[in-house]
Amino acid sequence: CGIVGYVGVNDSIDVLLGGLSRLEYRGYDSAGVAVIDQTGTMRTRKRAGKLAILAGDLKAGAMQESHTGIGHTRWATHGAPTDGNAHPHLGDDGKLALIHNGIIENFSPLKQELLDEGYTFESETDSEVAAVLLGREYRKTENLREAFQNIVARLDGAFTLLAVHENEPGLVVGARRNSPLVIGLGQGENFLASDVAAFVEYTQSALAIGQDQIVSITADKVEVTDFFGAPVEVEPFEIQWDA
Ligand code: GLU
Repeated sequence: CGIVGYVGVNDSIDVLLGGLSRLEYRGYDSAGVAVIDQTGTMRTRKRAGKLAILAGDLKAGAMQESHTGIGHTRWATHGAPTDGNAHPHLGDDGKLALIHNGIIENFSPLKQELLDEGYTFESETDSEVAAVLLGREYRKTENLREAFQNIVARLDGAFTLLAVHENEPGLVVGARRNSPLVIGLGQGENFLASDVAAFVEYTQSALAIGQDQIVSITADKVEVTDFFGAPVEVEPFEIQWDA
């Protein structure tokens, strides 16, 4: 039910947990994060229950510093609220992590197509289908943005998707269809979130993303295109916020 993505100077775990707690009011049953740590390795943690349980886990597990990551709070629609069904979900190479808000209506035929090709699944979610599909395209393109372009048109329903891949540290790519996503513009850092509340303590400068668009952020660059990769104009706005 809540989505946050971050690349920049701050520690991503702090930004992600802070952002997710700002989105808690929407309600959720599980939470998880994926970050690319200083050694270039992707680390994921996900737990059913309150954000505090995930935060406790992260503290106990002493994560390395990281500057790229994605965070999710889940409101289960497909599959019970368990640790395994919590997001992020991984591509089959284990190097790609994806989070999803919404419902992928046609996940069932897509899942069958992937099962027929020998792919396996760890969860009952519709979302993992997008993760595995994206992973398959990543093998062909070795480019997260292009891989997104190859899958988004095939997904029906409502989705905000964010993903990171170990081979492209310093990059978060996202897409939206019938589900919210905004960009926060910082100094040496950029944000993606389902709601400006997630990053308003870091920046009041934001960009609205239209329907059926793909966005990528690095620490100092933001790129928005349509589902076919053609650049689109985005509207900057200042967040009016009375905390
Ligand atoms: N449909 C997905 C699931 O059940 C995402 C739900 C959400 O928006 O949090 O895992």
